[in-house]
Order: sequence, then C-alpha cells, then structure tokens
Amino acid sequence: MTSFLRDLVGLLLPVECAGCGLDDLPWCPGCAALLSGAAWRCENRAPRLDRMDGRGALPVWTLADCTGDVRRAIIAWKDRGRGDLTAPLADAMARQAAQVAGVLAPAAPLLVVPAPSTAASRRRRGGNLVDELAAAVVEGLLADGVRAELAPVLNRASGGDQVGLGARDRARNLAGQLSVPDRKTRWVTGRAAVIVDDVLTTGATFAASRRALERAGGGVVAGLTLASTPGPSRPPVLPDRPVVRPSDARG
Ligand SMILES: [Zn+2]
Repeated sequence: MTSFLRDLVGLLLPVECAGCGLDDLPWCPGCAALLSGAAWRCENRAPRLDRMDGRGALPVWTLADCTGDVRRAIIAWKDRGRGDLTAPLADAMARQAAQVAGVLAPAAPLLVVPAPSTAASRRRRGGNLVDELAAAVVEGLLADGVRAELAPVLNRASGGDQVGLGARDRARNLAGQLSVPDRKTRWVTGRAAVIVDDVLTTGATFAASRRALERAGGGVVAGLTLASTPGPSRPPVLPDRPVVRPSDARG
C-alpha cells in the first residue's frame, strides 16, 4: 500500500499496534524487535515433546516468550482479524529459518509441514494461518541454500479446539486426530520434515504431528515457532531474613 493510501485508511480506521497498542502503526518497531533477535531452543519447556524413548525431545526453535506484547499480537493475528500481521510475522519466521538453516542442512531436502488447525478454525480465520509461517520458513531455508518445500500433509479431524484444556487433556484430545491422509503418504515416506507452528505451549501439537508423520514413514528433525509459552511461574522467592526498612528501624 502506498503511504498516501495508508494515511487515507488511517483517517478512516484508527490503527494501533497489535502488540503494545501504540497509535497509528499496525506493528511498531519496538514490537517487531521482540521477534528479530537470535533464535533459541525451547523444547525443554514442553514436557509432552519428550517421548521417553531415549531419543530425547524434538529440538524446537523460537524467537520470543509468548507473553505480553508478543502474546497479544499473536492472539490479534489469529482471532481478532489482524491479518495485516501475516507479513511481519512471516518475515520473522523466514529470518529464523535462515538462522537455523546450517543446522538443518544435513537433513535436506526438507518437507516443511505446518501444524494443522481444525476445520472450524480454518473457516473462522479464512484458512490455516500457520501455512503462511511455514511458507516463510521454506523461503528462509531456500535463501540460505537449503532445499525445502512446503508440505501441508497433516489432516486434523474435528474434535474440539485446544483452548482452555490442560496439558494432559490437550494431548488426549489430539492423539489420533492428526494424520497424513493416504493420498499424501508417498510425499512423506522416507523424507525428513520440519514442523512449524505459531506457539509452543505443552508440545502436544508437535508430539502428535511428529507421530503422524512417523506413521507415514517420515522423520521429524526439528520444530520452528514464533514464540514459546514459559512454564508455570514459580512462587516468589522469600528472603531468608525479614527485610528491615529504614522506616521500620526507627523508633
Ligand atoms: Zn507495538
């Protein structure tokens, strides 16, 4: 959009940053900076990712904690109609993919598999928004010379959303819901895959996606996410001794 058009639309529709709420910008530089740092591994926060088969948890990279402005922005993007965030969020994923391309290169050519959403949420959102992130991961890998292709091969049977469920119920809800349909099995068999999702929470989605790809004869080498939910917060640490403030000490 030209700046003239953007100004005109701005006059008609007030715009605010989807993260921090700053006026007049859809996605401000401060919020963009939250997703522009170095990618880091977050799988140790997701207990469901460890299959306890001795092979350890799936490596999952991310760009930020899913808290505060980042969390608000992702919710706005997914559930509040802020489709204008697709481009900057996809850019962040492409940059992340370029950062980890060297680590993933030995497994190439890679299938980049978006975590599937339910039919109901696809209808509500006009598609699977995670497909856009996965397409950006492909771009980031290709730009770094790593062969990769977008492979939306996972189906999600209806069975309710994951919203509001605890870790155990999420895993149970998803178990058996995700699959590679027969007509796509040949695409997956013998191939290495990277799974892409917007947020890593309990790891139930990644674990179920990984199992479905393995049932179809594929292997999963990594996950990539925009953000990762920190584990349950710890209670505040109390000082060993009572703290004596100057006002208490007097008198
Ligand atoms: Zn902002």
